[in-house]
Amino acid sequence: IAKNKGKNCYQQYSANMASRISEDFQMQEELGEAIKIGHLVVHYQPKYSTRERRLTGAEALVRWQHPEKGLIAPDRFIGIAERSGLIHGLEAQVLDSVCAQIRQWLDAGLVVPPISVNLSAVRIHDEDLPTRTKACLDRHGLDASYLMFEITESLAVREILRAIEALKRLSAMGVNVALDDFGTGYSSLSYLRQLPIQQLKIDRSFIIDLAAKEGDHVAIVRSIIGLAHALRLHVVAEGVETEEQMAFLDKLGCDEVQGFLMSKPVEPEAFAAIIEADRAREGKAKIHRLPVA
Ligand code: C2E
Ligand code: MG
Ligand code: MG
Ligand code: MG
Repeated sequence: IAKNKGKNCYQQYSANMASRISEDFQMQEELGEAIKIGHLVVHYQPKYSTRERRLTGAEALVRWQHPEKGLIAPDRFIGIAERSGLIHGLEAQVLDSVCAQIRQWLDAGLVVPPISVNLSAVRIHDEDLPTRTKACLDRHGLDASYLMFEITESLAVREILRAIEALKRLSAMGVNVALDDFGTGYSSLSYLRQLPIQQLKIDRSFIIDLAAKEGDHVAIVRSIIGLAHALRLHVVAEGVETEEQMAFLDKLGCDEVQGFLMSKPVEPEAFAAIIEADRAREGKAKIHRLPVA
C-alpha cells in the first residue's frame, strides 16, 4: 500500500510540476508579448519622513495589466522574467517609463522627489547598466538626482560584491542606491561598509512585529538603525501599516517610512495629487509661520 501511495504521490507531484512548468511557459510567452505591446504599468508608492511626515520620494512598482486577468502583481512574473531573460527588456521599459513620467510631472510644474526603481540581481551584473541609465536620463533631460535604484539584500554577498564596480559608477553619476529588504539576506558589517549605497530599507517582516508584546523585533530594528546611521546611511522602514508601528519607528530614529498606513502604490495621476497635497501642506506651514517672523 505504502508503495502504491508513494507512487501516487510521485505521480501527483510530477503532474503538479508539469502543470506548473507549462503554466510558467505560457506566462513567459504572454509576458514577452505584454512587454512588446506595452501592457506593463508602473505604480508609485510614496515615502515620507517619519517625524515631519513630509514626502521624500516614491518607489516605482511594476504591474502587468492583463486583458483578461486584470492587474497582476510583480511577485507573479518577476521570477519568470529573470529566468527567461525577459527581465532586461522589462526593466529597461520600467526605467524609461519612470523617466518619461518624471519629465511629464516636471513639465506640469510639479516638484518631483527622487523615484526609486527596483533592479533585479541579473541586471546589476549588466556592465552597460550605468551607460544605459545615463542615456535614459539624457533622453528625458533629467538630472541623475531624480533617480534611485533599489537592489535586494537577499542576493548572495558574492553577487553584490561582483556588482560593486557598476554600483560605484552609478553613484559617481549621481544615482543613489538603496539596499532593499534589509535583514533577510547575509549582510555582514564588513561588506556593508564596502557597498556604495546611501540608503537601507528594513524589510517589512521586522516592521510587522514591531508592536508585538513578545519578540526581539524592537531590539533588531534598533540595532539596524544604529548600524545604518554609524555607516551614514539613511534608513527607510517598509510595510508600515499602523500608527503604533509609526510611533516605534519615530522613537527608534528611523528616517523614512513607506507603507499602507500612508498610501498603497497608486497610479501616476494619484501620485501627482500626493505631490500637490504635500506642497499645499508646506504652503500652509509657511503662511502659518509668517506673522511670527
Ligand atoms: P519591494 O521592492 O520590497 O517592494 C515593496 C512591496 O511591498 C510592494 O509590493 C509594495 O506594494 C508592498 N508594500 C508596501 N507597503 C506595504 C504595507 O504596508 N503592507 C504590505 N503588506 N505590503 C506593502 P509589490 O508592488 O507587489 O512588489 C513586490 C516586489 O516585486 C517588490 O518588493 C520588488 O522586489 C519586485 N518588483 C516590483 N517592481 C519591480 C521592477 O520593476 N523590477 C524588479 N526587478 N522587481 C520589481
Ligand atoms: Mg523595492
Ligand atoms: Mg522592499
Ligand atoms: Mg520587501
